[in-house]
Amino acid sequence: MNQLEQSRIQVLSQIEQACLRVQRDPNTVQLLAVSKTHPSLSLREMYAVGQRSFGENYLQEALAKIEELQDLDIEWHFIGHVQRNKTKHLAEKFDWVHGVDRLIIAERLSSQRLETQKPLNICLQVNIDGQDSKDGCEPNEVAELVEQISRLPNLRLRGLMVIPAPNNVAAFADAKNLFDQVKSLHAQPQDWDTLSMGMSADLDAAIAAGSTMVRVGTALFGARDYSL
Ligand SMILES: *Cc1c(COP(=O)(O)O)cnc(C)c1O
Repeated sequence: MNQLEQSRIQVLSQIEQACLRVQRDPNTVQLLAVSKTHPSLSLREMYAVGQRSFGENYLQEALAKIEELQDLDIEWHFIGHVQRNKTKHLAEKFDWVHGVDRLIIAERLSSQRLETQKPLNICLQVNIDGQDSKDGCEPNEVAELVEQISRLPNLRLRGLMVIPAPNNVAAFADAKNLFDQVKSLHAQPQDWDTLSMGMSADLDAAIAAGSTMVRVGTALFGARDYSL
């Protein structure tokens, strides 16, 4: 068994244990492999051992990998900061975009999604613990944004994405509350089923609080080298 396969089995088992501790069905938590900075070959190897969904943060790097790996049936997630002038590539090349935090971004993604494509899956990013430096809308903006984004034709609004400060596990419970509140809205989106939270260091706490998608990089691929 190679290193990547071993790491993946380990992470899947960690997810399963975290679910069982809180009486959750392990099938309700999806593993998104965060592959930023890692070469296409590593993604190909991860694919070969069963991984299908990959998350990327940097557009140019991601576009090169999407091109190089077009023979594989990968579900591509963009989890980085969404810049307004980059939405066209996101709309055309990805299956999911997690970092939507303004209506204008959602409108652009919807209008730039091709008619021949399935609707683009969206998570609304929320600045759940009031960090200055973080992207994401404010919690009190969620209800209105959900109503507005749900009306856009070429998007499927799936849920929320949060990146709390390290060790701020209490924020996961706040995110779960907000996620549940949307379900009680008058204009509840049809496919509201995704709470994207938890990374290598805090996936147990995220799962205990109700995460349905953990975004894991380091625990799968090893440490990132940004000097390359
Ligand atoms: C890099 C990144 C991850 C993965 O982080 P690890 O600590 O390596 O698991 C998850 N989510 C986002 C938004 C990221 O940018």
